[in-house]
Amino acid sequence: MITKVRGTHDLLDTTLFDFVINSAQHHFKRAHFTQIITPILEPLELFKRSLGVHTDVITKEMFIIQQSSESDLICLRPEATASTMRAFLEQGNLSLPWKVFSYGSMFRHERPQKGRFREFHQFNLEIIGTESIAQDAFLLGLLDQLFQNVFKCDDYALLINFLGCGQDRAEYKPKLYAFLTMHEAAICSACKERKEKNIMRIFDCKNPTCQELYRTAPEITQHLCARCTKEWKQLRDQLEILSVTYTHSPTLVRGLDYYDKTVFEFVTSSLGAQNAFCSGGRYNQLATLMGSKTDYPSIGAAIGIERVLLMLEQRVDQLNLPQKEALSVVMPLGTEQQNLALLIGDLLFDAGICVEVMLEEDSIKSMMRKANKLGAQFALIIGPTEQETGTITVKTMMTGTEEKIAQRDLVHYLKK
Ligand SMILES: [Zn+2]
Ligand SMILES: [Zn+2]
Repeated sequence: MITKVRGTHDLLDTTLFDFVINSAQHHFKRAHFTQIITPILEPLELFKRSLGVHTDVITKEMFIIQQSSESDLICLRPEATASTMRAFLEQGNLSLPWKVFSYGSMFRHERPQKGRFREFHQFNLEIIGTESIAQDAFLLGLLDQLFQNVFKCDDYALLINFLGCGQDRAEYKPKLYAFLTMHEAAICSACKERKEKNIMRIFDCKNPTCQELYRTAPEITQHLCARCTKEWKQLRDQLEILSVTYTHSPTLVRGLDYYDKTVFEFVTSSLGAQNAFCSGGRYNQLATLMGSKTDYPSIGAAIGIERVLLMLEQRVDQLNLPQKEALSVVMPLGTEQQNLALLIGDLLFDAGICVEVMLEEDSIKSMMRKANKLGAQFALIIGPTEQETGTITVKTMMTGTEEKIAQRDLVHYLKK
């Protein structure tokens, strides 16, 4: 037997998935975001430039598709921000700020674990072409409302940090370097490597000794320029105005190269170790990293759908899930009634009624069992008598009561 690829999953009941996607779409459309769709296939070069060649995503986790020539390697997208920026730059001439969302499959060749797949779904939001930190507060407010009011989550926290501008980090990094040199003996070997290659990544270390030590490390927010200091305060003030509860996490730096200023994660204890279900930040230099002559300061977020599903499965009863449509099941008692059953099914469908016609030539007992399993509201029985007299027997499944009515009155009967 052929089984699914490791790290992928089948979703055979999409009720909750649809709820998450539909309500997020509705939520962000109301905040005047536009939906876009970008390809799953992208040039590998796009992510090398945007994520940085030294990141885990690029060095270990890319699904690369070998083309005939080396120069045009393509890959399955590992995230959506770079694609969105590419689409924005390629289209040109869009009015700013460009507020868009998209959702779909992303691909990373990681070790599969609970809530983490190699093919996974994200819902992505980007506000491209804005320097205003108030947009950051606005986006965080919208996300918080979605999780709290629509998804009815209460056991999560919003962690934020402010990484300053490039200049601030250039001045901060030597101070962090000096701190690490002072504690060289205490840090793990991976952190020793990060210290030389990409120093701010030390904060992503999962080693408890390192984590404990980094609590006393110099904080980037204490090394901000005048403008960034003002923006960092503005962000916190505006989150308060919007009643968004947050925690400042000085060690939150996010995994990717292109972030500056605002970075954030929504985390929950209900997911175990993989506890972030939404994350993002500001990426002011991404456009220029990708070859644009103009800077387009931007802010974005990604919601991990599989992780949200894991959270919501625990509280399905609190959600405002759409009601299932009332189902009518047409039951021909014999082969001779099949044509009539098809016609009646067609008529009901045309009238906007949710209908299933039983065409497997089963016994009435077996058809009733199936209709019960399907949660049908009405069983519409057609035997030789009904066929001859132009009637139909309608059984209300809930009460078991039966009523014989004229076929021409059926639509009217079911709709009342
Ligand atoms: Zn600055
Ligand atoms: Zn470490």
